[in-house]
Amino acid sequence: TSGSEENDVVVIGGGPGGYVAAIKAAQLGLKTTCIEKRGALGGTCLNVGCIPSKALLHSSHMFHEAQHSFANHGVKFSSVEVDLPAMMAQKDKAVSTLTRGIEGLFKKNKVSYVKGYGKFISPSEVSVDTVDGGNAVVKGKNIIIATGSDVKSLPGITIDEEKIVSSTGALALKQIPKKLVVIGAGYIGLEMGSVWARLGSEVTVVEFASDIVPSMDGEVRKQFQRTLEKQKMKFMLKTKVVGVDTSGDGVKLTVEPASGGDQTTVEADVVLVSAGRSPFTAGLGLDKIGVETDKGGRILVNERFATNVSGVYAIGDVIPGPMLAHKAEEDGVACVEFIAGKHGHVDYDKVPGVVYTHPEVASVGKTEEQVKALGVEYRVGKFPFLANSRAKAIDDAEGIVKIIAEKETDKILGVHIMAPNAGELIHEAVLALTYDAASEDIARVCHAHPTMSEALKEAAMATHDKPIHI
Ligand code: FAD
Repeated sequence: TSGSEENDVVVIGGGPGGYVAAIKAAQLGLKTTCIEKRGALGGTCLNVGCIPSKALLHSSHMFHEAQHSFANHGVKFSSVEVDLPAMMAQKDKAVSTLTRGIEGLFKKNKVSYVKGYGKFISPSEVSVDTVDGGNAVVKGKNIIIATGSDVKSLPGITIDEEKIVSSTGALALKQIPKKLVVIGAGYIGLEMGSVWARLGSEVTVVEFASDIVPSMDGEVRKQFQRTLEKQKMKFMLKTKVVGVDTSGDGVKLTVEPASGGDQTTVEADVVLVSAGRSPFTAGLGLDKIGVETDKGGRILVNERFATNVSGVYAIGDVIPGPMLAHKAEEDGVACVEFIAGKHGHVDYDKVPGVVYTHPEVASVGKTEEQVKALGVEYRVGKFPFLANSRAKAIDDAEGIVKIIAEKETDKILGVHIMAPNAGELIHEAVLALTYDAASEDIARVCHAHPTMSEALKEAAMATHDKPIHI
């Protein structure tokens, strides 16, 4: 670990923003120390977010397939059951292997790692209460705040991580709840709801807004909601939770229409509160050095990720913008490139978003609603996976590709995919948008057969001309 010797870069927080920034800084020849309080690297994403949720999504999907799909493929067995502790153990193993992997990357790149809680004592000094009970002062010419975000609760609801859980508790339930109520129909709520629905819970999602996942293209969202409903997820939209009673065995939620009206009761064994996340800066001493934040507590930065305090930068979930791991990583790389005197760049219009349900929903660029609001004349090309040979071959054909292109130039403005592996398929579209491609460019690229990617080519053909297979 690093003592009082001065660093070129000190990163507070070892999540995807912080650890990537630290490695990149070291690769650029800067002497770098990363401070992390959790005792493990990888932040929210690796420890209690992206990775454990994807582990459980995959395990629960296998169980669901075994129950509902294997027989259609001629694979039969007499019984199938869930061993929840084993499922959780595989998730935990994935997490611990990956956190150790990042420690290995720190060693390889000569990033110093201090385990402890950092707080500013000046714009170039961080005091760290180390996890082993000691204290260290870490000095840096440049300090990057990458302290991420934390679960947000709702007024009047106390998260106890047993009956009323956050996403963190929902990733570690000891029993499969008979009834799970999810408050908030964002991607985290839908992913965790899917996990437990597949394992046998009756899942009801309560959402204040009139739609699930508000950032999604409306047409795709409608199909997506229907698909989730077919998977027996129930939705109570335009509904607000006004009371929570945990005095009995389970939980009784009192709900009423968002616009006011008659109250009803919804019962649950477990309630998942997934109503968003807040930037995390507690105990960091921002006020001591005078770092400016917005009303929501997000740290304000300029296009070089610099705060109002000279030498202090911020990246990732703690600054405004999409709260996504890959966005935090891009911030981290660009920020240290600027510090190293190079040029950094993040194009926030081309950050893909993925909901990892089954099927997945992935998108990049603008929704049809956004394009309409801009007043741009546009064309839409669509292709359903029902007409895609690979999807039919594997009997997993629910979904669609939708491409929106500018009418005059055919330039692609947005791509929305619902498909089993949409999160992988989307990157061809991200690349296309990055190169300002026209839909005809994708349509004329040779795509291997039979692949799901051919649906993207066909949707592109449908955008500027006609598809072949429908
Ligand atoms: P964080 O990952 O929050 O890391 C910040 C780190 O800083 C933490 O480890 C914290 O302990 C540490 N820290 C804070 N304060 C201090 C201090 N004072 N001193 C020392 N250390 C400190 N995003 C995706 O892109 N894809 C997904 O599939 C996805 N799934 C998710 C699922 C769930 C259930 C959740 C909760 C989130 C998910 N996210 C996903 C969001 C993703 O986790 C975040 O966007 C990402 O982790 C942000 O990275 P970060 O580095 O900014 O912050």
